[in-house]
Amino acid sequence: MITLSNIHKSFGKQEVLKGIDLTVEQGDVVAILGPSGSGKTTLLRCVNFLERADEGKVQINGVGVDCRHARKHDIVQIRRKTAMVFQHYNLFKHKTVLDNVTEGMIIAQKMSKTDARARALRVLEQVGLSEKINEYPSMLSGGQQQRVGIARALALNPEVILFDEPTSALDPELVGEVLSVIRSIAQEGITMIVVTHEMGFAREVANRVVFMEGGHVVEQGTPEEIFLRPKQERTRQFLSRYS
Ligand code: ADP
Repeated sequence: MITLSNIHKSFGKQEVLKGIDLTVEQGDVVAILGPSGSGKTTLLRCVNFLERADEGKVQINGVGVDCRHARKHDIVQIRRKTAMVFQHYNLFKHKTVLDNVTEGMIIAQKMSKTDARARALRVLEQVGLSEKINEYPSMLSGGQQQRVGIARALALNPEVILFDEPTSALDPELVGEVLSVIRSIAQEGITMIVVTHEMGFAREVANRVVFMEGGHVVEQGTPEEIFLRPKQERTRQFLSRYS
Protein backbone atom coordinates (compact mmCIF):
# COMPACT_ATOMS: atom_id res chain seq x y z
CA MET A 1 0.00 0.00 0.00
CA ILE A 2 2.86 2.38 0.84
CA THR A 3 6.28 2.10 -0.68
CA LEU A 4 9.17 4.39 0.15
CA SER A 5 12.13 3.89 -2.14
CA ASN A 6 15.63 5.18 -1.64
CA ILE A 7 14.63 8.20 0.46
CA HIS A 8 17.49 10.64 1.05
CA LYS A 9 17.24 13.85 3.03
CA SER A 10 19.86 16.32 4.20
CA PHE A 11 19.62 19.46 6.28
CA GLY A 12 22.54 21.56 5.12
CA LYS A 13 25.57 19.30 5.19
CA GLN A 14 23.99 16.78 7.56
CA GLU A 15 22.57 13.75 5.79
CA VAL A 16 19.70 12.63 8.00
CA LEU A 17 18.17 9.91 5.78
CA LYS A 18 20.62 7.82 3.80
CA GLY A 19 18.54 5.79 1.40
CA ILE A 20 15.49 4.41 3.19
CA ASP A 21 13.34 1.64 1.66
CA LEU A 22 10.15 0.72 3.44
CA THR A 23 6.98 -1.10 2.47
CA VAL A 24 3.75 -0.92 4.44
CA GLU A 25 0.77 -3.20 3.75
CA GLN A 26 -2.88 -2.30 4.16
CA GLY A 27 -3.86 -2.62 7.85
CA ASP A 28 -0.26 -2.72 9.07
CA VAL A 29 0.67 -1.00 12.31
CA VAL A 30 4.34 -0.18 11.84
CA ALA A 31 6.33 1.05 14.83
CA ILE A 32 9.50 2.98 14.05
CA LEU A 33 12.03 2.80 16.87
CA GLY A 34 15.52 4.12 17.26
CA PRO A 35 17.71 6.51 19.20
CA SER A 36 17.04 10.21 19.19
CA GLY A 37 18.40 11.89 16.06
CA SER A 38 18.27 8.74 13.93
CA GLY A 39 15.87 10.33 11.42
CA LYS A 40 12.55 8.77 12.47
CA THR A 41 10.51 11.97 12.53
CA THR A 42 12.10 13.24 9.33
CA LEU A 43 11.19 9.99 7.58
CA LEU A 44 7.58 10.28 8.74
CA ARG A 45 7.43 13.88 7.53
CA CYS A 46 8.83 12.86 4.15
CA VAL A 47 5.88 10.49 3.67
CA ASN A 48 3.38 13.35 3.46
CA PHE A 49 5.81 15.99 2.21
CA LEU A 50 5.93 18.08 5.36
CA GLU A 51 9.58 17.61 4.45
CA ARG A 52 10.51 17.06 0.85
CA ALA A 53 13.07 14.31 0.43
CA ASP A 54 16.04 15.22 -1.79
CA GLU A 55 15.85 11.95 -3.61
CA GLY A 56 13.59 8.91 -3.75
CA LYS A 57 9.99 8.00 -4.37
CA VAL A 58 6.85 7.91 -2.23
CA GLN A 59 3.98 5.71 -3.38
CA ILE A 60 0.66 5.50 -1.57
CA ASN A 61 -2.15 3.36 -2.99
CA GLY A 62 -1.43 3.90 -6.62
CA VAL A 63 -0.18 7.48 -6.42
CA GLY A 64 3.57 7.53 -6.98
CA VAL A 65 5.63 10.67 -6.65
CA ASP A 66 9.27 11.29 -7.37
CA CYS A 67 10.22 13.48 -4.41
CA ARG A 68 12.69 15.68 -6.22
CA HIS A 69 10.28 16.56 -9.03
CA ALA A 70 6.99 16.53 -7.11
CA ARG A 71 4.63 19.32 -8.07
CA LYS A 72 1.95 20.91 -5.94
CA HIS A 73 -0.75 18.71 -7.44
CA ASP A 74 1.20 15.53 -6.61
CA ILE A 75 1.76 16.69 -3.04
CA VAL A 76 -1.93 17.49 -2.57
CA GLN A 77 -2.81 13.99 -3.80
CA ILE A 78 -0.43 12.35 -1.33
CA ARG A 79 -1.59 14.57 1.54
CA ARG A 80 -5.22 13.64 0.93
CA LYS A 81 -4.34 10.04 1.68
CA THR A 82 -2.61 10.76 4.97
CA ALA A 83 -3.26 12.40 8.32
CA MET A 84 -0.70 13.21 10.96
CA VAL A 85 -0.81 13.20 14.74
CA PHE A 86 1.91 15.47 16.14
CA GLN A 87 3.99 15.24 19.29
CA HIS A 88 2.74 18.66 20.47
CA TYR A 89 -0.84 18.16 19.24
CA ASN A 90 -0.80 21.29 17.02
CA LEU A 91 -4.40 22.21 17.81
CA PHE A 92 -5.93 25.58 16.98
CA LYS A 93 -5.92 27.30 20.38
CA HIS A 94 -8.78 29.66 19.58
CA LYS A 95 -11.12 26.99 18.26
CA THR A 96 -13.25 24.62 20.27
CA VAL A 97 -12.63 20.89 20.27
CA LEU A 98 -15.45 20.41 17.78
CA ASP A 99 -14.15 23.13 15.44
CA ASN A 100 -10.63 21.70 15.62
CA VAL A 101 -12.01 18.43 14.30
CA THR A 102 -14.36 19.84 11.64
CA GLU A 103 -11.84 22.35 10.22
CA GLY A 104 -9.96 19.91 7.97
CA MET A 105 -13.13 18.30 6.68
CA ILE A 106 -14.68 21.65 5.78
CA ILE A 107 -11.58 23.37 4.38
CA ALA A 108 -9.56 20.54 2.82
CA GLN A 109 -12.31 18.08 1.98
CA LYS A 110 -15.04 20.65 1.19
CA MET A 111 -17.52 18.74 3.30
CA SER A 112 -20.71 20.54 4.37
CA LYS A 113 -20.74 21.88 7.94
CA THR A 114 -23.58 19.56 8.86
CA ASP A 115 -21.81 16.43 7.59
CA ALA A 116 -18.52 17.52 9.14
CA ARG A 117 -20.19 18.08 12.50
CA ALA A 118 -21.88 14.67 12.39
CA ARG A 119 -18.61 12.93 11.60
CA ALA A 120 -16.71 14.96 14.22
CA LEU A 121 -19.22 13.93 16.89
CA ARG A 122 -18.72 10.27 15.95
CA VAL A 123 -14.92 10.37 16.11
CA LEU A 124 -14.92 12.44 19.30
CA GLU A 125 -17.11 9.78 20.88
CA GLN A 126 -14.64 7.16 19.67
CA VAL A 127 -11.80 8.89 21.55
CA GLY A 128 -13.96 9.46 24.63
CA LEU A 129 -14.39 13.23 24.36
CA SER A 130 -18.12 13.68 23.75
CA GLU A 131 -18.35 15.75 26.93
CA LYS A 132 -15.68 18.21 25.80
CA ILE A 133 -16.81 19.30 22.35
CA ASN A 134 -17.37 22.96 23.26
CA GLU A 135 -14.22 23.41 25.31
CA TYR A 136 -10.97 25.03 24.19
CA PRO A 137 -7.64 23.17 24.11
CA SER A 138 -6.24 25.15 27.07
CA MET A 139 -9.00 23.73 29.27
CA LEU A 140 -7.96 20.14 28.51
CA SER A 141 -5.23 17.89 29.85
CA GLY A 142 -2.38 16.93 27.52
CA GLY A 143 -3.90 13.48 27.10
CA GLN A 144 -7.25 14.97 26.13
CA GLN A 145 -5.59 17.40 23.70
CA GLN A 146 -3.78 14.53 22.04
CA ARG A 147 -7.06 12.62 21.77
CA VAL A 148 -8.47 15.66 19.93
CA GLY A 149 -5.44 15.41 17.64
CA ILE A 150 -6.26 11.76 17.01
CA ALA A 151 -9.95 12.53 16.42
CA ARG A 152 -8.96 15.20 13.92
CA ALA A 153 -6.81 12.72 12.03
CA LEU A 154 -9.51 10.02 12.08
CA ALA A 155 -12.15 12.46 10.86
CA LEU A 156 -10.28 12.88 7.60
CA ASN A 157 -10.78 9.17 6.92
CA PRO A 158 -7.20 8.85 5.67
CA GLU A 159 -5.65 5.77 4.13
CA VAL A 160 -2.80 5.98 6.62
CA ILE A 161 -2.33 7.81 9.92
CA LEU A 162 1.19 8.98 10.73
CA PHE A 163 1.89 9.32 14.47
CA ASP A 164 4.96 11.35 15.42
CA GLU A 165 5.89 10.41 19.01
CA PRO A 166 2.27 10.91 20.08
CA THR A 167 2.89 10.41 23.80
CA SER A 168 6.35 11.85 24.35
CA ALA A 169 5.11 15.30 25.44
CA LEU A 170 2.72 13.82 28.01
CA ASP A 171 3.10 13.40 31.75
CA PRO A 172 3.59 9.69 32.45
CA GLU A 173 0.16 9.25 34.02
CA LEU A 174 -1.51 10.48 30.80
CA VAL A 175 0.34 8.21 28.39
CA GLY A 176 -1.92 5.21 28.97
CA GLU A 177 -5.17 6.87 27.91
CA VAL A 178 -3.66 7.98 24.60
CA LEU A 179 -2.06 4.61 23.88
CA SER A 180 -5.33 2.86 24.58
CA VAL A 181 -7.12 5.10 22.05
CA ILE A 182 -4.42 4.36 19.47
CA ARG A 183 -4.69 0.64 20.24
CA SER A 184 -8.46 0.69 19.71
CA ILE A 185 -8.05 2.43 16.34
CA ALA A 186 -5.40 -0.09 15.33
CA GLN A 187 -7.84 -2.88 16.07
CA GLU A 188 -10.20 -1.43 13.50
CA GLY A 189 -7.62 -2.13 10.82
CA ILE A 190 -6.53 1.42 9.99
CA THR A 191 -3.02 1.51 8.53
CA MET A 192 -0.61 3.35 10.81
CA ILE A 193 3.01 4.30 11.05
CA VAL A 194 3.97 5.22 14.62
CA VAL A 195 7.26 6.77 15.69
CA THR A 196 7.49 5.90 19.36
CA HIS A 197 9.67 5.26 22.37
CA GLU A 198 6.96 3.16 23.99
CA MET A 199 8.46 -0.29 23.67
CA GLY A 200 5.55 -2.06 25.37
CA PHE A 201 3.14 -0.45 22.94
CA ALA A 202 5.30 -1.32 19.92
CA ARG A 203 5.57 -4.89 21.08
CA GLU A 204 1.89 -5.32 21.75
CA VAL A 205 0.15 -3.27 19.05
CA ALA A 206 2.51 -3.16 16.06
CA ASN A 207 2.64 -6.05 13.64
CA ARG A 208 5.91 -4.73 12.24
CA VAL A 209 8.80 -2.99 13.93
CA VAL A 210 11.44 -0.97 12.14
CA PHE A 211 14.66 -0.08 13.95
CA MET A 212 16.49 2.98 12.61
CA GLU A 213 19.85 4.43 13.42
CA GLY A 214 22.01 7.07 11.76
CA GLY A 215 19.63 7.56 8.83
CA HIS A 216 19.44 3.85 7.98
CA VAL A 217 16.94 1.09 8.62
CA VAL A 218 19.15 -1.27 10.64
CA GLU A 219 16.64 -4.06 11.01
CA GLN A 220 12.93 -4.75 10.65
CA GLY A 221 10.62 -7.62 11.43
CA THR A 222 7.74 -8.79 13.56
CA PRO A 223 7.74 -7.67 17.20
CA GLU A 224 8.87 -11.20 18.17
CA GLU A 225 11.79 -11.04 15.75
CA ILE A 226 12.93 -7.60 16.88
CA PHE A 227 12.32 -7.88 20.61
CA LEU A 228 13.14 -11.54 21.20
CA ARG A 229 15.59 -12.44 18.43
CA PRO A 230 17.22 -9.24 17.11
CA LYS A 231 19.84 -10.06 14.49
CA GLN A 232 21.84 -6.86 14.72
CA GLU A 233 24.04 -5.97 17.66
CA ARG A 234 22.88 -2.33 17.46
CA THR A 235 19.25 -3.33 17.85
CA ARG A 236 20.14 -5.50 20.83
CA GLN A 237 22.04 -2.67 22.51
CA PHE A 238 19.24 -0.20 21.95
CA LEU A 239 16.56 -2.52 23.30
CA SER A 240 18.61 -3.54 26.31
CA ARG A 241 18.36 0.03 27.58
CA TYR A 242 14.60 -0.35 27.79
CA SER A 243 14.37 -3.75 29.45
P1 ADP B 1 14.48 11.38 15.45
O1 ADP B 1 13.02 11.53 15.16
O2 ADP B 1 14.99 10.00 15.21
O3 ADP B 1 14.85 11.87 16.83
P2 ADP B 1 14.82 13.55 13.59
O4 ADP B 1 14.30 13.09 12.29
O5 ADP B 1 13.94 14.43 14.43
O6 ADP B 1 15.29 12.28 14.44
O7 ADP B 1 16.17 14.33 13.38
C1 ADP B 1 17.29 13.77 12.73
C2 ADP B 1 18.38 14.84 12.62
O8 ADP B 1 17.95 15.84 11.72
C3 ADP B 1 18.70 15.53 13.93
O9 ADP B 1 20.09 15.72 13.99
C4 ADP B 1 17.98 16.85 13.81
O10 ADP B 1 18.64 17.85 14.52
C5 ADP B 1 18.03 17.11 12.31
N1 ADP B 1 16.88 17.91 11.84
C6 ADP B 1 15.59 17.53 11.87
N2 ADP B 1 14.78 18.48 11.35
C7 ADP B 1 15.61 19.51 10.98
C8 ADP B 1 15.39 20.78 10.38
N3 ADP B 1 14.16 21.19 10.02
N4 ADP B 1 16.47 21.55 10.14
C9 ADP B 1 17.72 21.13 10.47
N5 ADP B 1 17.99 19.95 11.03
C10 ADP B 1 16.96 19.14 11.30
